[in-house]
Amino acid sequence: MTEIHLTGRAASPGLAIGPVTVLTAAIAKRTAIGDPAQEAAALQAAIEAATAEIAELMSTMQGEVADILEFQVAMLEDDALAEGAYDAISVGVAADHAWRSALDAEISGYRAAEDEYFRARAADLADIRDRVLARLSGGDTPAKITGSSIVAGDDISPTTFLAADWTRGGAIALAAGSPSSHVAMLARTRGAPMVVGLGPLSWNGHPPSLALVDGDAGTVIFDPEPETLRLFEHRVAAANAARTAADAGRTEPAHTADGRPIAVLLNIAAPEDLAGLDPKICDGIGLVRTEFLFEASRGLPDEDTQYAVYRRILDWAEARPVTIRTLDAGGDKPIKGLTVDDERNPFLGLRGIRLSLARPEVFRVQLRALCRAAVHGALKVMLPMIAVPSELDRAAAMLDEEFGGLKAKGVACARPPLGIMVEVPAAALRAEDFDAAFYSIGSNDLTQYTMAAARDIGAVADLNDTGNPAVLALIASTVEAGRKRGVEVSLCGDAGADTRLTTALLATGLTTLSVSPIAVARLKAAIARVGS
Ligand code: PEP
Ligand code: MG
Repeated sequence: MTEIHLTGRAASPGLAIGPVTVLTAAIAKRTAIGDPAQEAAALQAAIEAATAEIAELMSTMQGEVADILEFQVAMLEDDALAEGAYDAISVGVAADHAWRSALDAEISGYRAAEDEYFRARAADLADIRDRVLARLSGGDTPAKITGSSIVAGDDISPTTFLAADWTRGGAIALAAGSPSSHVAMLARTRGAPMVVGLGPLSWNGHPPSLALVDGDAGTVIFDPEPETLRLFEHRVAAANAARTAADAGRTEPAHTADGRPIAVLLNIAAPEDLAGLDPKICDGIGLVRTEFLFEASRGLPDEDTQYAVYRRILDWAEARPVTIRTLDAGGDKPIKGLTVDDERNPFLGLRGIRLSLARPEVFRVQLRALCRAAVHGALKVMLPMIAVPSELDRAAAMLDEEFGGLKAKGVACARPPLGIMVEVPAAALRAEDFDAAFYSIGSNDLTQYTMAAARDIGAVADLNDTGNPAVLALIASTVEAGRKRGVEVSLCGDAGADTRLTTALLATGLTTLSVSPIAVARLKAAIARVGS
């Protein structure tokens, strides 16, 4: 048996060694009831049972995970999804066959989509398909993963991923998949190494027993030779030792080797991301994405709901600065009923501050909630997707009006400092022209707009590089504008957590980086090596 080396795309960092579990959708055989009306009823019952099952799982999850499951529930509740299956049943096709063909057609449509976002959702649909099939055949939910296995397969569904315990190690090696899929996002937050796009996993009839996964390099070795295994074990041991050392330093302030203090802030997508975290690991919160409050299924959040959430985050931070970003809907974050459907190029459309200014009745509610929350801590408010100074000025005028209105009514409130995200090259080039209280560089968008390489299209992933000198020059010019104007400049895009870029980012003069909680220890360790 010779070892098999495969190269794909890194989707979640880390190294893992483990026995291979080959994913199969083990669905029991089903005997059709026969009568179309009974078959239709059986399908309906199976869909309802699967929906209830996912909804129950959702009630035990929070934040991003709950959002993913909510997407699946929404799909299952959409009558259009099963329409084709019911049509087939009415002409005599068995419920399971009808459902499978309808969903397979839908899945191949998603897989062939031009937009990586939709391609990445194919795994969610496959998950829905298999859950309903499992219900129809009276079987259990498919595919169980146990222990610290390396899960190998075509693709993996979010619920299959969530059913496994990733705290005991393990990794994922996929023939297909996408780094921007929901599962990849989950793998990153749970620390499970993942490689996607490995191409056909053909074992010549003999499934491998052991695999080595390198989630940093995007490589997988199946059935390694003893010497390959030995070398990899050394790498794993070194990586574990480095992680233990980094974890120990997590609550210490970050300094470069030559003594420069660097502030490390947190990016969060919901207050649940802070559960169980010690505030001492950070110097504050650099980015609160507020889109989670605006999910269509929950309706637009009222002022009190928003205030309560913002206050919870400020309370957690114990007087450390907290930067909350106003709604950044649109682009890759559509919100039904709020963002514009069918924009030809949503990344260049009515998103971020543009949408907020176009929908002042929604924006003003958020501004009022923020003014009320501001009395409970060091709150800063940040505007996304700013391109020209007039956008900041108009938003500032609205903030002043809402603050004035609350004060006149005797409501406890404060006017938080208003800063901008620098994520459009026009703003980076002319940062000095903006009367902003601070700048926060959104490197995800700044990179895609500078390089004309979308952040969610795998085929141009190599161009979407924050380390490109053009992007670094824009970051440096923003830092310089902040220095001249005497205001803080931070960076809150994903590049902050990419330790391969830490030296280059700090060389631009940046002294504040904001990253997701899981990246803090690694980043602080990388900062400590800069200038050594
Ligand atoms: C960014 O663009 O870098 C950023 C932090 O904003 P988001 O990823 O939410 O667009
Ligand atoms: Mg952005």
